Amino acid sequence: MSNQGVVLFGGTFNPIHIGHLVVARAAAEHLGAGRVVLIPSANPPHKSGEELADPADRLEMARAATAGEPGFEVDDIELRRDGPSYTVLTVRAFRERLGDEVPLFWLIGADTLGELSTWYRTAELVSLCRIVTAVRPGYDRPDTTALRRVLSAEHVRRLEEDIIPTPRIDISATVIRRRVREGRSIRFLVPDAVADCIAARGLYRRV
Ligand code: ATP
Repeated sequence: MSNQGVVLFGGTFNPIHIGHLVVARAAAEHLGAGRVVLIPSANPPHKSGEELADPADRLEMARAATAGEPGFEVDDIELRRDGPSYTVLTVRAFRERLGDEVPLFWLIGADTLGELSTWYRTAELVSLCRIVTAVRPGYDRPDTTALRRVLSAEHVRRLEEDIIPTPRIDISATVIRRRVREGRSIRFLVPDAVADCIAARGLYRRV
């Protein structure tokens, strides 16, 4: 397979950590894709109270985490857009930029696949790109029953084929924020440049 494929990986990245980066790299290698684009999501209105750092800070940390890493880039498309932040709009924009021939993947965690049926324009999304579900060792294979109500059997089959194994790295952004709040080290959990950025900007200290 050529390596011209592009893996899009969206998240709050609050903050970005080694788990995100390892899973993105593993998925790109598995899929034979040469590019990974990290896409920080806009601040959802209902999450504003939950120590969610500003978009500019989350963007800066994602950029710092990947600076100089071949094949990795960060795109602020969802931060520049007004209105609801639907994945299908982002994927449409990449499809327009890249054309129809480039293999395009949207990477999600196993916990998200079951929720896909509630997303905006799921059928269009699934036809614009391949939704790739990363499953870590020790986690159950996701249940696709709910998807059968909104997608064709062919679409569900394709989603199931794109469930891929990725390494298990038990790091979560929640734990990192807690450690910062408690004044504990986050070295080895995030790239050094991200730890520096959190310290310099005084992020996640609020109790
Ligand atoms: P929080 O702890 O704040 O809920 P999160 O890392 O789960 O943070 P996001 O930044 O939105 O939240 O995560 C983006 C994606 O990365 C999600 O699909 C999530 O399942 C996946 N992810 C998060 N941590 C890991 C990890 N350690 N290994 C593999 N995938 C991960």
